[in-house]
Order: sequence, then C-alpha cells, then structure tokens
Amino acid sequence: MKMKIHTRLVVWAALGVLAVVSVVSFAAYRIARSGLKEEVFSHLQSVAQARAHHVQTFLESQKSLISLTARDIGLVEGLRRLRDGAEDKATIVRDLNSELKGEIDPSQHLYEVLLLDHHGEVLASTNPDDIGLDKSADAYFVGANDGPYIKDAHHSETTGKGSIVLSAAVVDSASGELLGVVAARHDMVVLNEILTDRSGLGQTGETYLINKYGFMITPSRFLNDTFLKLKVDTEIARDCLADMAAMRREQLPVEREHPAIVFADYRGKSVLGVHNHVSEMQWGVLAEIDASEAFAPVARLRTALLLFAGLSAASAMGMSYFIARRISQPIHELHVGAERIGAGELNNRLDIRTGDEIEQLAHEFNRMAARLSESRASLERKVAERTADLTREIAERKQAEEELERLNAELNRSNRDLQDFTYTVSHDLQEPLRKIHAFGQFLVEDCGDHVPEEGREHLRHIQDAAVRMKDLIRHLLTLARVGTRGGEIEPAAAGQVIQEVLQDMSEQVRECGAAVSLPDRLPTVLADAVQLGQVFQNLIANALKFRSPDRRPEVAIGARVEGDQAVFSVTDNGIGIEERFLERIFGVFQRLHLREEYEGAGVGLALCKKIVLRHGGRIWAESELGKGSTFHFILRTVPQPEEKKP
Ligand code: ADP
Repeated sequence: MKMKIHTRLVVWAALGVLAVVSVVSFAAYRIARSGLKEEVFSHLQSVAQARAHHVQTFLESQKSLISLTARDIGLVEGLRRLRDGAEDKATIVRDLNSELKGEIDPSQHLYEVLLLDHHGEVLASTNPDDIGLDKSADAYFVGANDGPYIKDAHHSETTGKGSIVLSAAVVDSASGELLGVVAARHDMVVLNEILTDRSGLGQTGETYLINKYGFMITPSRFLNDTFLKLKVDTEIARDCLADMAAMRREQLPVEREHPAIVFADYRGKSVLGVHNHVSEMQWGVLAEIDASEAFAPVARLRTALLLFAGLSAASAMGMSYFIARRISQPIHELHVGAERIGAGELNNRLDIRTGDEIEQLAHEFNRMAARLSESRASLERKVAERTADLTREIAERKQAEEELERLNAELNRSNRDLQDFTYTVSHDLQEPLRKIHAFGQFLVEDCGDHVPEEGREHLRHIQDAAVRMKDLIRHLLTLARVGTRGGEIEPAAAGQVIQEVLQDMSEQVRECGAAVSLPDRLPTVLADAVQLGQVFQNLIANALKFRSPDRRPEVAIGARVEGDQAVFSVTDNGIGIEERFLERIFGVFQRLHLREEYEGAGVGLALCKKIVLRHGGRIWAESELGKGSTFHFILRTVPQPEEKKP
C-alpha cells in the first residue's frame, strides 16, 4: 500500500502515543481500582466490626441486666415464699407483678418482663395476658438453667413482633435450688437501629444480620418484610456461615485469600461485601455496598483516562502532522523537482531553506540540474552543428550523386554511341576493305606481268595489310557484339559449358600434348552460356599458346564457391607474364609479343573482360615470369533454395 511519508509519520505517532498512553492509563486504572477496592473493603470491614461489636455490647448489657433482675431480692424472696407455700399467695404475686413493672425499659424496647415459676408457668408478667401460660417447653425457660440465655430472633407468640428474649434463672442462694426464671422480651427494633445506621455507607451501603440458618433478621435497605423470610444465599453469607460453623466446632475459620469479595447479593446486584459475626448468637453481620457506587470514583477516573488517551493521541497526531509536514514538504518539493527535471524542465530550481540535510540535498540537486542543463545545452549545440554539417554533407553528396548519375548516363550514352560507332564503322569498313583486297587481287592477277617486281612486292604488302585489317575488324565486331548481341543471362552449368569447349578444342589439346584437369564438381552460375564458353575457350587457348618450350603444358581449371559467388581459375605452367603487364593485357589489341613469335590479335582477354563485366563480375591475372600464370574470374551463382535440416 502506498502511503505518503507524512501520513505514515502521523499514523505511527498516533499509534505509538495511543499505545503508551493506553498502557499507562490501564495500569493507573488497575492500581486505582485495586487501591479503592482495598479502601472500600477495609471501610466495610470496620463498619461490620463496629456493628457486630455494638450488637454484642447490647446483648452483654442486656444479659447483665437480666442477671441482675434474677438476683433481685424482691423476686427471689417472693418466689421462695411461694415455693414454701405461703398463704398470701395472691399478695405475693401482685407484688411480683408490680416488681416486674419497674423492670420495663422502653428505651431498650423491652416491652415485656415475665416471671416463671420453677415449673415453667408464667407467675407474673407485665402483659397480664401471659399470666398462667405454661412455658416449661420454651427455650428461654429451658436455656435459663445454664445462666443468662438469649432466645434467638423470632416472631413473638403474643405480639407477633420480631423479638428476642433474654432469660435468667432465679436461684435460692442458700440451697442453690431453682426458684423460677425471669425473662425479658425485647423488640428487634434496638438491633434494627444498630444495623440500619448507614452513616458512611453512601447511597447503597447496608449492614444486616442473618441468623445461623442464613435468614435475614434485620431490615434490608431495599426490600420490605424480610424478617426471617428472606434467606440470604450469597457467597459472602455462605462464607460467613461456614466460618461460624467452624468456630462452633472450635476450628479455625476457613483461610481465605481475601475476606472481602465482589459478588451478587440477594437482589442479584454486584456488590462489595464483608462479613463479621456475633458469636454469642451465631449471627452473621454482613456489610455490603453496590459495586457501581464503590467504584464510581475509578469509573470517573477511567472516563478521564480515556479522554486523556484520546486527547493525547489527537495532540500527537496534530504535532506529528505538523512535524511531518515540515519534513515531508521539502521532500515533496524535491520529488516534484525531480519529476520536472525528468520531464525536461532543466531550468527548474528548488528553494528549500530548512537548514538541514534536505537543504543540502536541494542544493546538490540544483547543482546537478545546472550541470545537466549545461550539458544539454552543449549537446544541443553539438547536435545542431552536426546536423548542419550532415545536412550540408548530404546536400553535397546528393549533388555529387546527381552529377555522377548525369556523368554515368552521359558515359553510358557515349559508350553506346561508341559501340554503335565501332560496330557501324567496323561493319562499314568491311565493304571497302573487301574491294581493296579484291581489286588488289585483280591487279596482281591481271596486270602482274606489267608491274615491276618492286611494284608487285608493294601490292603484296597491300594485300597482307588488307587481310590483317579484315581480321582486326572482325575481332572488333566480335567485341562490339558482346554488348549488343549478347544472349539471356540465366542459370548455366559451368561443367557442361567447359566440357563442350574442351570438346571443340580437343584437336588443339592433343597437338600440344597438354594435360587439362577439371574438378569433380563445378557450380551452376548465372551467365550467358555462349559467352561463358568464349571466356573459357580464350583462357584455355592462351594457356596452350603461351606454353613453355621446356615442359609439357598443364592446364588446371578450378572453381570454388564463396557465398553467392563462384570464383573460377585457369592455371598454366607456361611462360608467365611480367607483373607490370598484368593489367595492360586486358586492353584491346594489347600484346606482349611479336606476331612472328605468337600469333594473335590481342583481343582475347579484352573480350573475356568485357563478357565478365557484362555479367557484373571481375577478372584478373596472377603470374610469375617463366613459371606460369593463373587467370581468375568471378560470376554470381544461382541462389540455392535453403536446405531443409532433418
Ligand atoms: P593474343 O593472345 O591474341 O595475343 P590476348 O588478348 O589473348 O591476345 O593476350 C594478350 C597478351 O597477353 C598476349 O599477347 C600474351 O602476351 C599475353 N598472354 C595472354 N595469356 C597468356 C598466358 N597464358 N601466358 C603468358 N602470356 C599470356
């Protein structure tokens, strides 16, 4: 993915800051939360402890009071007298009743005091309805025998109120005999007041008591009518009951990692809670507060931290954007500059003043652009000069070519004219020459006798000259016909042409006793077969004619193919040619010997040259005087169809 530098910087900076801030914030949040949790728990702990202590103190004080009451002289005496069968029983009971009235303490919600005889029958009570009831099976009667007793929270049979009953045995101090039991009914209100003191517990904190079966015995802050009806089956309640059971068995409470926990309370709400207990009554004291309230400060902290993280990331983005712009702007300018240079704008310069490496780079860049610009200018200059030169050269060359063409055409025309002229002259000269020769003949034959010997000698010279001239003209005609009367140039098998020539010359060859050799294979060339025969005929005839008197003449015909050319050669072991004459011998009527030595007209090689040139080839000679000569000539071969590779 392509991303601009500054976008990348901004993204990385934002991510980096966000990561750091997130980690720090998270750590701070966790520390704050666990600190707060500790604090809340220890607060709850102390509240629970205080409430438990308060309840305990209340119960202790009530136990002391009931013990005191049980030792009240009036009560003891009255009961003793009743036991002993005193006659004024009714008076005694009335006295006891009035005695009991003095024990009522509304401030402690002590709403009824009863006195039972040693059989468990209510002798006297502040509530007259209870007098005469048999309480012998009631817990507070049975329990009182072992010292002051507290009957657990219950619904009072007579009032229906939530109550506890404290009782103590009235004993004859002399004999130690049980005289009766004094009992005090307390409304639960006192305990409720202790437990519903919610100072320091905020909006949702509460403390309440549960009995040893887990039933709530003081009011709930949230629900009504829970007394002995709501069984608190929460984690903390179970822990509390388990601890108390352990203590009952005189074991140590279960070791827990933390006595305080976060759990779902009896409403199903998440709360922080701790437990304590009132060992006297096997009551559990539970102190709880809603987690939402307890953790409200950290929730606020969390919001603040999130806000802080967001703001930090945003400001990091902003700053990095600003920094990135500062860095990437010059880079962008460099980039644009490079593009413009690339597009050929060599005069473009960068004006970057960042005072850092980028400025140096821009400086170097400008220098490079300047050098490029200079070298381009010089290159353009050179190209322009060179172009001008070339244009001039081309113009001159064209002019020269035109001149050459014109001259060539002129040359061709004059050549043609010359050829025509030669042919016409040669042709036309034959007739007068024949006449000179014929009339010379007539003169010798008819008037020979009248002409002195000297005159006849002259006539013979005239006749010889006429014959020679005839020969010359014949040769000239042959030469002229090469261009004008030549046949078609077409594929010709050199082997066959040579065979025919040798056939025609067989008598000549045999006379000289010459040895003629041929290669096995000879190429097919593009040629006028008749003229090719003339070339071989002339070259072989010369090889035989200019043989050395010292040795048997040997003529070797050779051929090799080089590309699309065939190079033929005719080699002899004859007298050879001086090097300086190697070119001259191809001229018309050029001979190196007197006619008396070697006969001939000096036209053979000129004819060969003219034929080879007509075929677009070349002819030349190599020789060593006294050893022999080689004549080479080149012709074009027939283009071969490409051989198919297997
Ligand atoms: P001709 O043979 O009629 O004299 P050519 O034109 O054929 O005329 O030859 C020109 C001259 O080149 C010859 O007179 C001869 O001196 C020389 N010449 C040609 N062929 C040979 C050869 N094979 N060896 C030596 N000299 C040669």
